[in-house]
Amino acid sequence: MKKTNQLRRGRAGKRTFVSSKRQERRKIAAGQVSKLLELSLTNAAKDAQLSQRYAKIAWAISTRFNVKLREKRRFYCRFCKTFALPSAIRYRFSKRRKALNITCLRCGMTYHKILPRNAEKFHGR
Ligand SMILES: [Zn+2]
Repeated sequence: MKKTNQLRRGRAGKRTFVSSKRQERRKIAAGQVSKLLELSLTNAAKDAQLSQRYAKIAWAISTRFNVKLREKRRFYCRFCKTFALPSAIRYRFSKRRKALNITCLRCGMTYHKILPRNAEKFHGR
């Protein structure tokens, strides 16, 4: 693999150099995060505690290596970062706000997530 430094735009439009070594590490970290989350989801029904542990490690890796979780982020409680298993979280659909009201059963905090226009995929939850 060719080792080159890639020119990237930073947050404020500034030019920043990201070393290829760091990019490689991030790529590996991203793979590990997705693997851990997959493991967490498959073990959710069998062993909730193990599932939480996988999710916690995945969160730690993603924050350490600056890996974005993207849509997987909604699997975590916004406040205490508990993995949102059905046993740990309660979903309620608010028609007025067209949003999902989420209550974490661990920390007791409530927050809402506004649904995208193609909200059909959320109805199964
Ligand atoms: Zn919580």
